[in-house]
Amino acid sequence: MTRESSAAGGPEPLPPDTVAALERRLRRETRGEAQFDASARGRYATDASIYQIMPAGVFVPADDADVGAALDIARDLRVPVIPRGAGTSQCGQTIGAGLVIDGSKHMIRVLDIDAANRTAVVEPGLVLDHLNARLAPLGLWFPVDVSTGAQATLGGMAGNNSCGSRSIAHGNMVHNVLGVGAWLADGTRADFGPLAKLTGRAAALADFVRRLAERHRREIVERWPKVMRRVGGYNLDIFDNQSERPYTVDGQVNLAHLLIGSEGSLAYTRTLTLKLAPRPPHRVLGVVNFPSFRRSMEAAQHLVELGPSAVELVDRIMIDLGLENPSYRPNLEAALIGRPAAILLVEFSGEDLAALHSKLGLLVERMADLGLAGSVVSLADPNAQKNLWEVRKAGLNIMMSLKGDGKPVSFIEDCAVPLEHLADYTDALTEIFARHGTHGTWYAHASVGTLHVRPILDMRRDGPEGGAQRMRAIAEEAAALVRRFRGAYSGEHGDGICRGEWIRWQFGDALDRAFREIKRELDPRGLFNPGKIIDPPRMDDGTLFRFAPPSAANPYRTITLEPVLDWSAWDVQNDPLTEKVTAPGTGGDTTRGFAKAVEMCNNNGHCRQFDAGTMCPSYRVTRDEQHLTRGRANTLRLALSGKLGPDALTGDAVHEAMALCVGCKGCKRECPTGIDMARMKIEFLAHYKARHGYSLKDRLIARLPDYSALASRWPWIANLRETLPGARRLGERLMGISAQRSLPRWRRDTFWRDPGAGDWASREAVLEAASSGAKAVVLFVDTFNGTFERENAMAAARVLRYAGYRVHALNKRREAGPAGHFCCGRTFLAVGMVERARDKARELIDALDEFARLGMAIVGLEPSCLLTLRDETLVMGFGESAQRIASQSMLFEEFIARELRAGRFSARFKPAGRPVLVHGHCHQKAFAAVNPILEVLELIPDSKPRLIESSCCGMAGSFGLEAAHQDVSMQMAELTLLPALRAAPDAIVVADGTSCRHQIADGAQRAAIHAARLLDEQLIN
Ligand SMILES: Cc1cc2nc3c(=O)[nH]c(=O)nc-3n(C[C@H](O)[C@H](O)[C@H](O)COP(=O)(O)OP(=O)(O)OC[C@H]3O[C@@H](n4cnc5c(N)ncnc54)[C@H](O)[C@@H]3O)c2cc1C
Ligand code: SF4
Ligand code: SF4
Repeated sequence: MTRESSAAGGPEPLPPDTVAALERRLRRETRGEAQFDASARGRYATDASIYQIMPAGVFVPADDADVGAALDIARDLRVPVIPRGAGTSQCGQTIGAGLVIDGSKHMIRVLDIDAANRTAVVEPGLVLDHLNARLAPLGLWFPVDVSTGAQATLGGMAGNNSCGSRSIAHGNMVHNVLGVGAWLADGTRADFGPLAKLTGRAAALADFVRRLAERHRREIVERWPKVMRRVGGYNLDIFDNQSERPYTVDGQVNLAHLLIGSEGSLAYTRTLTLKLAPRPPHRVLGVVNFPSFRRSMEAAQHLVELGPSAVELVDRIMIDLGLENPSYRPNLEAALIGRPAAILLVEFSGEDLAALHSKLGLLVERMADLGLAGSVVSLADPNAQKNLWEVRKAGLNIMMSLKGDGKPVSFIEDCAVPLEHLADYTDALTEIFARHGTHGTWYAHASVGTLHVRPILDMRRDGPEGGAQRMRAIAEEAAALVRRFRGAYSGEHGDGICRGEWIRWQFGDALDRAFREIKRELDPRGLFNPGKIIDPPRMDDGTLFRFAPPSAANPYRTITLEPVLDWSAWDVQNDPLTEKVTAPGTGGDTTRGFAKAVEMCNNNGHCRQFDAGTMCPSYRVTRDEQHLTRGRANTLRLALSGKLGPDALTGDAVHEAMALCVGCKGCKRECPTGIDMARMKIEFLAHYKARHGYSLKDRLIARLPDYSALASRWPWIANLRETLPGARRLGERLMGISAQRSLPRWRRDTFWRDPGAGDWASREAVLEAASSGAKAVVLFVDTFNGTFERENAMAAARVLRYAGYRVHALNKRREAGPAGHFCCGRTFLAVGMVERARDKARELIDALDEFARLGMAIVGLEPSCLLTLRDETLVMGFGESAQRIASQSMLFEEFIARELRAGRFSARFKPAGRPVLVHGHCHQKAFAAVNPILEVLELIPDSKPRLIESSCCGMAGSFGLEAAHQDVSMQMAELTLLPALRAAPDAIVVADGTSCRHQIADGAQRAAIHAARLLDEQLIN
């Protein structure tokens, strides 16, 4: 079933009638989802590698029986199968020209936990962190702690023989798997486990492998790398272990270990029996500061002798990146002594805290022996430790966000060498990089001689400066080093496409032939993941690159597009050696930076979040790759590069992928490369609507700020939908607003008609006050608070006045009648009316600029409106005034928190008498504006405000009001927000977002309030 290369390079696509039959039969004979359109296939054509191969189709099985049926169909039609979990592989293991089977949506059950014997049986699509969450109450964990634990599936981890930071203590995946239940290529099922328990086909296979191993005993002993971190090839040494760490504790052979690290090329994993470990109750950390990088590398071998659970490297570049980030600086500074060239994080863990402290003492002594007395900072506090581990992750993330076509490329990032050679190896590799005009940042697993490093290469360029040539040259020289130091070329992330061709180099011809025999025995017709481990393509075959260079038969090109927003910051190039980027707008992007912004997604899969942070709520409820930030970025990239046909940007595929993006900006903050899908959605909508036109609903939503004054003049008419029988249903039919949803009630007494009693300062008065250094602010009262909840603005003003500020409410002065209000343009942006939004925002910017020039704070209440001034208005062509205003715009709580810290705010509050629960608006989370809410509410005695760990509430402006989104909106709310509210029936609920309050009212029948209201109510007058 192995397919020849096509004329265009890459594997030959399957004949169309075979693909049609495959799709037809999958739809007819299974319950799973068969996805065969170009956009779905394109989303599965990549993983976290640099490669791209279009699959024939994608299948998302509903259950194990579906997998069996799909394999039968594939075998009948001679279609190769590519098993897939989260698709976070870095070497192209999960891509191929056959049928991708994605087990991560439904194959996610924990089938059994035996706490007494410390084992668990799981399905392959289960995410590591989800298993560990189940195990935590039992005091257990599965200790292969890969950095992608929140995304990686256990099936994928087994496929890659993954390993974590603590592998020195716990080993790789292969050391922690006790059994594998698998679908074999002939359609039978087999259980792989300890030799003594094997029966039938598995027992015969074991005999076969043993005979093969015996035949190759000499080569195995001679050629097999002896380091623990060796994941290349098949584990033919299970009968004659060559690693410094044996496969099993008791030396018994376990045939399951043959499948671990086989990258889906031998069988499809149905179940995994895992060995669990007691969760260590204590951890302590010693941070060793080094004056030179080389000394840190020399020291590693001496530190592992102390029995640490991890020794992790952070180099100078990452230290500097961490210090640049205000949220990491304090933690990092606390661990540093001066400005070290590198630090090693040396962790000890176990049951006996006193013993761990003694180990820290030994570490201090050992460093003194090595001539570095006084170089260790001890961290016993778990929070301080956690923060420091996060610095390492953050550093990597910032490194990956380099703009321009040169990117840190992962291909030799996990060579493993014996520790005594680590210093010479890293020195030599650094020299190689320099010779090839690039450099890399070093980090990770010093304990096991596996350091991650990614040289910066431009894979889109041809020739000597191009990525492919440099990658090949560096790989060859790195391989020679690995051989010199008797290490393993493939030490953590697997072989895939980028290291497959090095298997023969590493193991020699005879063992390569033996691997081929294993493949032939288990998978004679090449059903499973062809081109992985056996017959791999060249790593530098440009036709397989996601960004194929001009010389490839399928070069990467983008369409020409005039964007409506300013993306020029991405339209740059960079210098691989210095990382300096050129001026905005000089990158040569045919879409003026929009495509390059989209291409920042490197498919690492970090957006497959379920528990922490905000991103990506639509994925959390659908578990569908299409509704993931990565899926959206890939769909946009395919459309912008013409892979989905003409006019694809404004076609159905992109529309569908964008449909459930709630614009929460979770990705803007949490995506390691800063993908800002909310902004991309605005850009997309502008083009889409320009082609397809605006609906009545779009106009109703967008123009609310325009008609709000009129509607509030005759509220009884405007509220007819809420009062007239049948009106809701009609509204749903005509405009798509869900009949089940309430709408905000119009009222006559808007803020602009009646701003309430109180000393509102005039524009002139605050300008004068600010000029003379007095306390003065401008309150930007947005359409929502002003029209529907003026009490919030009045409350905010009362609190500010109480603390001695003069408060001016920004308004459009009129000769007669109530003052008019300014609008940030948010509702227009939400439907893609960028020009109308620009008009609105320009008016607002013009009105605010005189205050900003005086350095006055511009305070707002509605997160999505105020934060528009810190985000979208910066890319709408307003120049310096927008920058000035952005730097002075802050939410009410942010302002108070700032003033508190400066000693300018003081007020006395009485206790609220009830617990306070806070739900942060997504945009507050995206702009790190949630902590100030807690900080300010702490001023209320005994309030102990608690943040609900929620993603988006699901309302997201008008998203949840739409009939088409009603269900998904409520599912988002039900993830954590509504259960948290139900669990605290007495709590005061604080939510600053108008739409969040609406969702809470609809979903939990609770009245949430703006923080300003709570503070105002508790003021002691
Ligand atoms: C930022 C980043 C950090 C990383 N950090 C680490 C790290 O610390 N340690 C580490 O080891 N790796 C790391 N990786 C690599 C990767 O995350 C891990 O290898 C992870 O375990 C892969 O899990 P997955 O679910 O994404 O598997 P996938 O990438 O989907 O698949 C991995 C392999 O398993 C096969 N497979 C999947 N399911 C099955 C099945 N049911 N049956 C048979 N074969 C199957 C696939 O065909 C493929 O060959 C990192 C990757 C990234 C992007
Ligand atoms: S969108 Fe961001 S987090 Fe998601 S895969 Fe792409 S780069 Fe990673
Ligand atoms: S804006 Fe929110 S919903 Fe949209 S892709 Fe980003 S995280 Fe997901």
